[in-house]
Amino acid sequence: MALLSKRIEALEESATLAMARKSRALQDQGKKIINLSLGEPDFNTPNFIKKAAKKAIDDNFSKYTPVPGYKDLLEIISMKFKRDNKLVYHPNEIVCSTGAKQSIAQTLMVLLNDGDEVILPAPYWVSYAQMVQLSGGKCRFVNTKIDNNFKIKPEDLESIITKKSKVFLFSSPCNPTGSVYSKKELMALGEVFQKHKHLIIISDEIYEHINFTKNHFSIGRIHELKNQVVTVNGLSKGYAMTGWRFGYLGAPKKIAQACIKMQGQITSATCSITQRAAITALLKDPICTHKMRKTFQERRDLMITLLSKIKDLDINKPEGAFYIFPDVSKYIGKKFQETHINSSDDLSMFLLEDAGVSTVSGTAFGANNHIRISYAASNQELMRACRLINKSLDKLH
Ligand code: PMP
Ligand code: GLU
Repeated sequence: MALLSKRIEALEESATLAMARKSRALQDQGKKIINLSLGEPDFNTPNFIKKAAKKAIDDNFSKYTPVPGYKDLLEIISMKFKRDNKLVYHPNEIVCSTGAKQSIAQTLMVLLNDGDEVILPAPYWVSYAQMVQLSGGKCRFVNTKIDNNFKIKPEDLESIITKKSKVFLFSSPCNPTGSVYSKKELMALGEVFQKHKHLIIISDEIYEHINFTKNHFSIGRIHELKNQVVTVNGLSKGYAMTGWRFGYLGAPKKIAQACIKMQGQITSATCSITQRAAITALLKDPICTHKMRKTFQERRDLMITLLSKIKDLDINKPEGAFYIFPDVSKYIGKKFQETHINSSDDLSMFLLEDAGVSTVSGTAFGANNHIRISYAASNQELMRACRLINKSLDKLH
């Protein structure tokens, strides 16, 4: 009998985490690597949140908490949904977890039966497809194009929905493309969803506060979709709190309660200290996130200026998050000495080894001809990285 289950044997390692691991290993060998692979803010958590966590330790918040989170935290999240997103979620429709990652995985697990279809606009965030697979679901991809800013249209959606479609899962602002759906675009998609009441929409809004259009629209605001939308958010990105592990969701009560049942059997709840800090973070006007957003926007502009100078890269204009997702197809089929570039995986590896810059291949995001570059790094590092990338790409013929 095999030691490991078929379920885990079929699961791929997270490509983002794998690339971060490879870059750390090279750094440990003494190589200089600029890490533009992992999507995590390079800022420190704001001081007022750190202070709240220290106080929570001193106040002995050290016991198991209720599974969905402390009662006052759930009330504050309900207030936050109303204040920032004009969404109405009662505290008993809210569940806090160890990151948005768990919130999404858990929602899929409570919704999907074997063979149920999940519609994913591609490019999609790496973990979505693997989470669907782990939950027994089947991915149906809707491909998008760089010239449409990687966004799907109502007719694309309409044509992929079948009787087996159970979930539509997307992020806006999007990882890996940085695209942002406007209110008008979501309202148009919303008209299609209204015709398919069996479809649940999981709206991943983890990059809510890193939106350069400054207009974040939550699809759950469309009144007619009230019973169809699960809104996922967290503190990792906007508040620079990736390691604290805090995500949450608002969902129709039956789905929220199912998530609580599942969480009660696997992780119980997220950390008590993190929960107390989250109360302080979310109570305050999100204005504290604006400075970081402004810096990300300046870096986005810098990256566009630098990368547009590389003539064989086709670049998109991200409107949020902190990734740029260039089309690298003109480099595929080229070589340098004995290194042949047959895919974006090869190109990403070549940039790691030759330029000392880590990126992530688009393959894991469902877009073979792209690479993802995170610009959550200092201007100095970004300038150096782009210079090195340019120099390495120039060697390919
Ligand atoms: N969704 C997207 C689109 C992400 O990029 C991430 C990044 N980790 C997550 C969810 C998960 O975030 P976390 O678990 O750190 O809250
Ligand atoms: N979301 C980040 C990324 O896409 C963090 C890594 C991860 O959670 O997979 O790089």
